[in-house]
Amino acid sequence: MKEPRHPNYVCVHAGQLEDDLYGGATAPMYTSTAYDYRRPGTNLYPRYFNTPNQVALSKKIAALEHTEAGLIFGSGMAAISAVFMAYLKSGDHIIMQRAIYGGTSHFASAEFEHLGIEFSMLEHITKETLEASLQDNTKMVYIETPSNPLLEITDMEVVAAFAKANSLTSAIDNTFASPINQNPALFGIDIIIHSATKYLGGHSDICAGTVSAGQDAIDHIWKTAKNYGGSLSDQTVWLLERSIKTLGLRVKTQSKNAKKLAKFLEKHPNVEQVNYPGLKSHPQHQLAKSQMHGYGGMMSFVLKNNIQQDDFLEELEVIKPALSLAGVESTILAPSTTSHSLLTPEEREQQGISDRLLRFSVGIEEVDVLISDLEQAMEKSRKK
Ligand SMILES: *Cc1c(COP(=O)(O)O)cnc(C)c1O
Repeated sequence: MKEPRHPNYVCVHAGQLEDDLYGGATAPMYTSTAYDYRRPGTNLYPRYFNTPNQVALSKKIAALEHTEAGLIFGSGMAAISAVFMAYLKSGDHIIMQRAIYGGTSHFASAEFEHLGIEFSMLEHITKETLEASLQDNTKMVYIETPSNPLLEITDMEVVAAFAKANSLTSAIDNTFASPINQNPALFGIDIIIHSATKYLGGHSDICAGTVSAGQDAIDHIWKTAKNYGGSLSDQTVWLLERSIKTLGLRVKTQSKNAKKLAKFLEKHPNVEQVNYPGLKSHPQHQLAKSQMHGYGGMMSFVLKNNIQQDDFLEELEVIKPALSLAGVESTILAPSTTSHSLLTPEEREQQGISDRLLRFSVGIEEVDVLISDLEQAMEKSRKK
């Protein structure tokens, strides 16, 4: 049978580690950290990313992103930092999107300077801004789309073409879209990173990261990654593999719910603004449509002044105010006091993140339940 590329098939079957001993339907878990070195092949060791469960899950991650190979890490930041350290050395320059995950942007400001690595952060990524920031020592271009928390869209084809034309490595943080809704390799992006703590894990109980890329790139990243030691334990590798089996089902439901909720909020008299790439009113809706299979489960919105925001968060009964995102349960937060609290009020203002902006991670609950919850919380938090 020719390997079908249907997402749910890939989620369930790709890279499956077979139970040859007992014929069980699920993968056996190999937890050894010591293997017989006299056996042919490479030396197996968890920090070398080559134990049976790690290798099997890497194949699934690669298949999900339409790349040749993958690596599994102990966190999203372990994956991101390994990629940076594999491609950048003292004297090099990297072009980065400004609106990226706070931890990544902090890695650049905290680590790059003392390593002697230069970086440019671009407010908007276009062919023109990329060309204007190109230097003789530029080695890499790094993007994230949709962005957090404003759901801005970056044109992946433009980035890939610019990278190819200038012999740079392109990398993307694809966490928000998930491999179900967006496959950057199909647009020519070289390296695709996920915080598997989010959609891939999906149940708010795993911290992990992944990298998908061509075999040569993965071999190159591996040489650096094994020195930094950011591998994931085989127990968690096994649990992550189990979780990914339902990735397609979860993300489809979350995306469908989010689209309905975005439309509901956009029409609501208590709501000032909704940022969701699936809305026709989103300034880059057409671009999102051209590069995403679905618009995802993340959105942000601003309530009107007649709603007391703290009371609104307090009154929610189903949707949990919580850090992190992408679990099966709906969660919400105010970026100004959480994910983006380290920025100054001026920096937030400049980036369009108002104190009243709420970021909403839509879960798999029935959409009617979520709408009722939002309605009752707005009702109870209306200013008298
Ligand atoms: C959470 C997150 C990360 C970091 O992942 P960790 O698993 O927390 O290290 C990176 N990028 C995005 C977009 C994220 O949401």
